[in-house]
Amino acid sequence: MRNESLNPEAVSESLSGFVPPTSPATSKHADGTLVDKYGRHVTYLRLSITDRCDFRCTYCMAEEMTFLPRAQVLTLEECLRIVQTFTALGVTKVRITGGEPLVRHNVLWLLDRIARLQGLRELVLTTNGSQLERHAGALREAGVRRLNISLDTLRPERFREITRIGDLAKVLRGIDAARAVGFGRLKLNTVMMRGRNDDEFIDLVQFAVDKGIDIAFIEEMPLGDIGHGRQGSYFGTEEAIARLETRFTLLPSTESTGGPARYWRIPGTETRVGFISPHSHNFCDSCNRVRVTAQGELYPCLGNNDAIRLLPLLRAHPSDDAPLRAAIMHTMGIKAKGHDFTEQMNAPQVVRFMSMTGG
Ligand code: SAM
Ligand code: SF4
Repeated sequence: MRNESLNPEAVSESLSGFVPPTSPATSKHADGTLVDKYGRHVTYLRLSITDRCDFRCTYCMAEEMTFLPRAQVLTLEECLRIVQTFTALGVTKVRITGGEPLVRHNVLWLLDRIARLQGLRELVLTTNGSQLERHAGALREAGVRRLNISLDTLRPERFREITRIGDLAKVLRGIDAARAVGFGRLKLNTVMMRGRNDDEFIDLVQFAVDKGIDIAFIEEMPLGDIGHGRQGSYFGTEEAIARLETRFTLLPSTESTGGPARYWRIPGTETRVGFISPHSHNFCDSCNRVRVTAQGELYPCLGNNDAIRLLPLLRAHPSDDAPLRAAIMHTMGIKAKGHDFTEQMNAPQVVRFMSMTGG
């Protein structure tokens, strides 16, 4: 499954050891920063540090998942080396994700090292919140600046259905722990699902208002074969906004967190309501990011199968970063112009799970 998700050309390059091309795929990175062939500057890396998770969210994973053997997963030292190479190439923001990043043993060691890298402005993390209660203080001390916490429902039974395993009370305690240690700008991530949580959008926004935090609603993306079709569950941004406007005044905001979300403010509150709308408002034109999976595959586009394997390079050249750097720069030449998720909702062409690529 995982190998099938890779572009055959990229696989053969990586299997034979990456050979930097004689003429660069793009000529726009002469200053040593990352610029793709459409002129987009890449300054943001999302790194998945594990494909494992203590939940099995129905939109993200199949019920039965086979996880990677340990030898095929980046070590924490390899993760650090990758991030270091990216920051040397002008990346200023790093998001650590997964799978569930907080189930990775010694994750705090890695975060602490990344936060100290020269050139890095922002280290942020996405989590399901299950381990936050015990880790919130240490995450802040390690230098994590912002947290995104996934929350699709406020009803315990429904939470168990959607996550298949999770305990809502634990996640809610995690959110409070993060607020208590002073994380500013906490943001909830809610995947919109028709018939599953669309009757709670207003309650979820009210929850965010009461806690003084932000919330972003995400249109479901067709990533991975989750064992059931997605077409019936798709819920679009415009309809969600209309629904929220029956209760709240939403004022469009020009604020951005450097990501694809478009924001609205609720007057008289601290809360911003964001929408990540890969179907209805494709954000590809301003894309500034690339992703590295837990097994070291560098994906320049979330909605596309082209990738370069960094792991063989890291292991073949343990003390020379030049081949790694060359591979990363080469990837700028294969970054797709954009994706079309809407076409793929029932028969995904991107066969890897979101937990593989990192959300
Ligand atoms: N386990 C962590 C969590 O749940 O926050 C981090 C990894 S998870 C893959 C990152 C984000 O991706 C979550 O907010 C999750 O809701 C979202 N996600 C997962 N599968 C998705 C899908 N098919 N479409 C849209 N968002 C998805
Ligand atoms: Fe795990 Fe996050 Fe995927 Fe849910 S969305 S299964 S918490 S990786």
